[in-house]
Amino acid sequence: MDERRVSLLFWTGSWDDAAMSADNLSHVWFKVTDLEVASGEGSWVTTTSGERYLDFSGGIAVTSTGHSHPHVTAAIAEQAKRFVHAQANVYTHDLMQPLAARLAEITPDGIDTFFYANSGAEITEAAVKLAKQATGRPNIIVFQGSFHGRTHQAMAMTTSKTVYRAGHAPLPSGIFIAPYPNVHADDLQDEIARALAGFDELLTSVTAPSETAAVIIEPVLGEGGYIAAPPTFLEAIDRRCKEHGMLFIADEVQCGFGRTGKMFAIEHYEIEPDVVCMAKGIASGFPFSALGTRRELDDRWPTGSHGGTYGGNPIGCAAALATIDVLGADGFLDDVNARGTQLADGLRRLQEQHPALVRVRALGLMIAAQFDTATRTSAIVSHCLREGKLITMTAGAAGTTLRFMPPLTVTADEIDLALAALDKALVDVVPS
Ligand code: PLP
Repeated sequence: MDERRVSLLFWTGSWDDAAMSADNLSHVWFKVTDLEVASGEGSWVTTTSGERYLDFSGGIAVTSTGHSHPHVTAAIAEQAKRFVHAQANVYTHDLMQPLAARLAEITPDGIDTFFYANSGAEITEAAVKLAKQATGRPNIIVFQGSFHGRTHQAMAMTTSKTVYRAGHAPLPSGIFIAPYPNVHADDLQDEIARALAGFDELLTSVTAPSETAAVIIEPVLGEGGYIAAPPTFLEAIDRRCKEHGMLFIADEVQCGFGRTGKMFAIEHYEIEPDVVCMAKGIASGFPFSALGTRRELDDRWPTGSHGGTYGGNPIGCAAALATIDVLGADGFLDDVNARGTQLADGLRRLQEQHPALVRVRALGLMIAAQFDTATRTSAIVSHCLREGKLITMTAGAAGTTLRFMPPLTVTADEIDLALAALDKALVDVVPS
């Protein structure tokens, strides 16, 4: 073992010493920037060298109320003074039920029972375990281009990029991949019919309905490129689920909690899901996730067959309750929609001047700008960071989609700053 690793094992120094040892960190993390951040406030982060950046990554759609919202940090601090850990098997702490009651108010009709964990992957895995137990069936259908997490089961359900799966085989079995319609097809109705025919073929030739526990789908593909499912497609899938007794699981880890301008993206559709997966924006960045379902389904999940040491953490519950206070305030979602429209309109104006910007997709503040090539997209992301002090990320396997996921508290001025940074990048990177 090299000297530095040994010295860390027996480390007695301060956190400042630790910051000097960046090479002790795993290289498995893919890095969007090389910034070292010291603090965050609202839509902004400040680096250790004192530079301020406008953070339109939102910590990958997590900082719903912005960095360190005072109402959320006060709730976290208050709870930390009372107790940090209250293990859910050992006792029920006094924020678990209040949070479940609030979630029952804001989740789609019929969802009234909640299980808590810590991350998105844990909650999509929990949804699969519940579905198998509640239906007595083994298989799951997912959709091409979706992302459900990086643990083994979640990875087997993820097809947004090969990098997540490559080198990790064998993956868990019993996952079947249905086609997702190309929403930009010339004849969208024809394309939807093709995707539904592919789904039906899966049921007739690969996994019979009697063997299929659930369908899990992101109402808006997140990592797959910020692509909203066409309503006729999603509603037809839901009808097939109801007809065959397969559960409809909405993975709202990225698109939930106000991101699309409604509390949950599934509210854009005429669908009552059986299970809703929530994480990311739910607690403004405190690691917390929740599964919502109907009591009668939860009753078929044998007690003791699932759980976790940290799920339902009291600080996480406090952060989630405070986040819901902010997101549920009168007019909050109207503001999200107004800011979303402002950003999408601004992007469409840029599109008129810059042919390299080929498409804009927008639902609330879940917004994508698609460019003509991956090289150009990456140059634009770098320019925005370097010159515009604007943090953005890409999405989708092609690498041509730049996604915007600012805090839902973003201001009109901040949207203008981001648009100006992108405009400058387009002028410099794509000379006319
Ligand atoms: N599901 C969706 C739709 C996601 O976007 C993500 C993460 O990006 C996950 C699940 C996994 O969440 P986590 O990274 O918290 O495990």
